Amino acid sequence: MPIQTLPDFRDPAICKRLVIKIGSALLVDASGRVNAKWLRTVVDDIRTARELGMEVVVVSSGSIAIGAKKLNLSHGGRRTLSEAQASASVGQIDLAAAWSALLAERGLVAAQMLLTLDDFESRRRYLNISATLRRLLKSGVVPVVNENDTIATGEIRFGDNDRLAARVAQACAADGVLLLTDVDGLYDRHPEHPEAERLDQVDGVTEEIHAMADSGSGSGLGSGGMTAKLLAAEIAERAGIALAIIDGRPEMPIAHAIASQAGTLFLPQREESGRRAWIGGRMRFNGAITVDDGCVAALRDGNKSVLAAGITGVEGDFSRGDIIEVKDVTGRVIAKGLVEYDADDVEAVMGRQSAELEAILGHSPRSSVIHRDHLVLM
Ligand code: GLU
Repeated sequence: MPIQTLPDFRDPAICKRLVIKIGSALLVDASGRVNAKWLRTVVDDIRTARELGMEVVVVSSGSIAIGAKKLNLSHGGRRTLSEAQASASVGQIDLAAAWSALLAERGLVAAQMLLTLDDFESRRRYLNISATLRRLLKSGVVPVVNENDTIATGEIRFGDNDRLAARVAQACAADGVLLLTDVDGLYDRHPEHPEAERLDQVDGVTEEIHAMADSGSGSGLGSGGMTAKLLAAEIAERAGIALAIIDGRPEMPIAHAIASQAGTLFLPQREESGRRAWIGGRMRFNGAITVDDGCVAALRDGNKSVLAAGITGVEGDFSRGDIIEVKDVTGRVIAKGLVEYDADDVEAVMGRQSAELEAILGHSPRSSVIHRDHLVLM
């Protein structure tokens, strides 16, 4: 049974494996050091979960903020890419030391994993991340993950640890993700608005929900804000993982959120196979195809493949085997999938019937351009 309520995050029969993400604004105090007094209480929450028999993975931000303070850099160390990278390398060693010491105080062993977006986009590296996480959890260790900001550049960065946490959850097949932040959930408008109301539960992230984040319902602190949290929720819900945004500011914030039932819970939407979940969580694409309304309707109807006849446009220079986006005529991404042809070939056959393809391409074609087994609807 998947997670349905906030208290389920503390029930080992429902939530065997939990990912906890902690933002920089919570972790780092005004002097630029780890807020150890508060973090110790988060570790108490983690220990409670471990004692109940749950496995816990931490995704911890904070390296850039800590490093920037030590190096006396302005703009929180984010003025230039090289300053952010230098700050991260100085800060990460302190961050890891703090986690290791605080977990050890409670009898727990920490492990460090620094990952980039590319590590998740390559299937082979993704499987390695997955195997390492599972092995660490099997030994009762608490993996502490951060983005490898020292080498991640603009194009290959997550940039926010919210999506990193959702991808980590997917890689270790977690049941739930808790995003600890400085607001107690998603509000339908700016939280300071007198009529703003918190959403307790979201059953599928829709455009309406995205519009709430755009209207500034997040705190605006940290690098991701509420928009990044919704993107993380989408990755999680497609992988069958529940995600909740809770207020990280109180001591023992997880116990507090569960007791007060305050937060926004995003319910899982489907249970994809591991491979399809990986495709659904991908963020970088070598290209896209546009399909007509008939094809969109057929795909939405259920288990259908993308055929050449429904394709109206090709973007980018993708190769057979790449993951590409499928867009409708308005440019909205409706699916992602593993393409069976190179971009040139798709361009040559688009709009044509399957029976014509062999004559056009000069070789026996695949029956579909994206097979339904390799297609994930958005
Ligand atoms: N990885 C960044 C850091 O450790 C934080 C990213 C975020 O704010 O989500 O400083």
